[in-house]
Amino acid sequence: MPSVVERFAPSPTGPAHLGHAYSALRGFEAARASNGRFLLRMEDLDATRARPLWEAAICADLAWLGLSWETPVLRQSTRSAAYGAALADLRRRGLIYPCLCTRKDVAAALSAPQEIAGAAFEAKAPMGPDGPAYPGTCRLHPPDPARLAREPYAWRLDMRRAVAALEGEALEFVELEEGPQGETGRIKIDPAWLVEGCGDVVLARKDAPASYHLAVVVDDAFQGTTHVTRGRDLFAATAVHRLLQALLGAPTPLYRHHRLIRDEKGRRLAKRDGDRSLAALRAEGWSPGDVRRALGMA
Ligand code: GLU
Repeated sequence: MPSVVERFAPSPTGPAHLGHAYSALRGFEAARASNGRFLLRMEDLDATRARPLWEAAICADLAWLGLSWETPVLRQSTRSAAYGAALADLRRRGLIYPCLCTRKDVAAALSAPQEIAGAAFEAKAPMGPDGPAYPGTCRLHPPDPARLAREPYAWRLDMRRAVAALEGEALEFVELEEGPQGETGRIKIDPAWLVEGCGDVVLARKDAPASYHLAVVVDDAFQGTTHVTRGRDLFAATAVHRLLQALLGAPTPLYRHHRLIRDEKGRRLAKRDGDRSLAALRAEGWSPGDVRRALGMA
């Protein structure tokens, strides 16, 4: 039996809250229960928001909770070469394409009436893991190479070609807990949903060498991750990760998507809720035991 390797992968873009504590504790305890390893990875690719001070604060919170992890901590900001190699591989196989669209361009294309058989109508783009599916503008109308030489661009996965490259290989992953609709056990991924519902996701951003989807797949493979413990909000993204694993020849971990931790109003905790940060709770006199009790883990 290969030993269990769990990882906690926060983005150091703000203070950790009870949701982070829940993910980290669940992963840590699962690793400990099977004498496995627990790793920490800083998902710090968003240079505009990631800060060393948040990384230090998250580590201090985790240590206060009683967690320990192997060092050195892997930082995604040091992994550009690995992401570049994965992109080069996909590019050689014609599975990605450059995209110049801004968020505004995408929103405008999505809200423009579509013309089908001469009749204009407002089509609602299906919702994928990154929001409404990209309408395919730069796939259908490849940007002028002169513009690409001058302007920053993103790389998008050509989802149709990516699914075709699987040559009929069925994609599934194992869910140890539950997806948002109670999905559990072997989860089959519908290729039609990848193409239509999810669409051409971004793999490298204009301002970052990899998107979350690419970085997480490359790094989970690099770190030998066997078990991924994270919030249920990422359940749909796992289908994209499973596809990328198949395309890049990366192993597929087992997944445990856990319930989301909500505030009294039922809202999912987010970094904007600074007042719910672990640091604030600590300052109010909470103990690590109080955190566990609040999370139903005592
Ligand atoms: N960095 C991601 C987040 O903070 C977690 C990604 C993951 O666990 O795969 O939401």
